[in-house]
Amino acid sequence: MNIMNNNLSVKSITEPARETKVCYEADVVVVGGGPGGVGAAICAARSGADTVLIERYGHLGGMATGGLVNIIPNLSDIYGEQHIAGIVQEIIDRMDARGAASYPQKPEWGTFERKVVDRYLNARMGNFFVRDNMKLDKEVVLYSALIDPEVLKDELNDMMKEAGVKLYLHSWSTQPVMEGNQVKGVIFESKSGRQAVLGKVVIDSTGDGDLLIPSGAEVITEMKRPSRIANLAFCFWITNVDNEKEDEFKAAQPEKYDELMKELTDKRGFARHFRGLLKDQENVIWFHPHIPAEDQTDVEEMTRIDIDTRKRALITYEFLKNYVPGYEKSYIMQTAPQLGTTGGKRVVGDYVLTEKDMNREEPFEDTVAVFAGNDRDELSHRYPKMYIPYRSLVPKNIEGLLVACRAFSSEDSVNTHFNLIPHCLCFGQAAGTAAAKALDSGVSVRDVDIKALQKDLRNQGVILPSS
Ligand SMILES: Cc1cc2nc3c(=O)[nH]c(=O)nc-3n(C[C@H](O)[C@H](O)[C@H](O)COP(=O)(O)OP(=O)(O)OC[C@H]3O[C@@H](n4cnc5c(N)ncnc54)[C@H](O)[C@@H]3O)c2cc1C
Repeated sequence: MNIMNNNLSVKSITEPARETKVCYEADVVVVGGGPGGVGAAICAARSGADTVLIERYGHLGGMATGGLVNIIPNLSDIYGEQHIAGIVQEIIDRMDARGAASYPQKPEWGTFERKVVDRYLNARMGNFFVRDNMKLDKEVVLYSALIDPEVLKDELNDMMKEAGVKLYLHSWSTQPVMEGNQVKGVIFESKSGRQAVLGKVVIDSTGDGDLLIPSGAEVITEMKRPSRIANLAFCFWITNVDNEKEDEFKAAQPEKYDELMKELTDKRGFARHFRGLLKDQENVIWFHPHIPAEDQTDVEEMTRIDIDTRKRALITYEFLKNYVPGYEKSYIMQTAPQLGTTGGKRVVGDYVLTEKDMNREEPFEDTVAVFAGNDRDELSHRYPKMYIPYRSLVPKNIEGLLVACRAFSSEDSVNTHFNLIPHCLCFGQAAGTAAAKALDSGVSVRDVDIKALQKDLRNQGVILPSS
């Protein structure tokens, strides 16, 4: 092994060349089994492609399961019109059939009925379920859903099996296999050693865009701070909480309650949480603390934040248990097995979505998803829909690669609103279907027939503008 030390501050080694076993040759290789990867793998396989999915953990779902982030928001706009359906709706329906989903019923979408609004405000889920409708000058309820992450892990395994996706769990992809600017597969490490899967199309659904820089794709790293996407996160759940008792205490002694919350914050604990609305889980509360991060893929920063935030989770729990009525019998039910990431680098695609695209009235010709734009106050009233072009999933100057995750081609101002679970599932649905379609027609993913792709997506229940 050669050790080089040309620059005193940066020491590097040269690894010996080695042969790597090819363990599978697929049509489509999806890397990362979070919302983007799940959508991509299921839809590629259902569309006829021999599909492999490589996931570093032992479960699927990414942040939606292992990250303990289980709110699927913004499926409708403030007027109650549903924009996101397709595989997202299918997953909600399947979870519902297992008693593992909770959401406002259709007549409640867009309603300002006080009882319904208060259900979500009392659960402290305001931002995800309740928005101002400025025209009505009233708070209205959105169509958003909650899902049980443990049931979702199993349901996603079932969906993969039904679709015929070959899974490699506990497998960490380290680099793409390249031939010039063409991606030909990926190399991954696992307890079985270092292996390669070859594929005609590779889909990067790692969230962080792990394949981008090694494949030579251009990336955007800009995040204007403070920005929602410039954070790491450590989520945890506390259970056995008597919410009624806490509410009674707060109502009887509001100043004392506020004082305690301030003291908790001063001690570096987390005062803000959501209350569980899943069936039989009303006594569970969810903490989603965002921790500002300079670089969400820097292992030293990840280590520091994991250790420090775990300490803060315990400070929170011990303080609540000792001082706040309602928490006497509580305990930490679980901490997220994976550190949360709100965003990060994005690919430079054939089209980069910018702030002005959020104010578009007309769809793109290659629109493959439509999202409700609920986050921008009065601008959301004027522009309730965001159109996503297929080109924002296609890396510029690279062949055989699609991006279906929060690393889609976008400025941070766009990414911050549209990189959530339902959005990434939609990117996956579009990318997986496109990959299979391109292979079927013998063209590159860049040249896929857009009208035919849109037709397929509509047939899968995706809501797209009429052509
Ligand atoms: C604290 C917090 C709260 C949030 N709240 C919400 C919310 O309430 N609702 C919502 O919709 N969104 C929320 N989000 C955002 C949402 O969770 C993510 O944007 C979404 O999960 C992104 O999906 P993804 O598929 O791009 O990436 P991820 O969910 O990150 O999935 C990526 C997957 O790829 C795997 N992977 C990564 N690298 C590799 C590799 N090299 N090899 C193999 N596998 C790999 C990971 O293990 C993971 O399974 C929140 C995020 C955070 C951090």
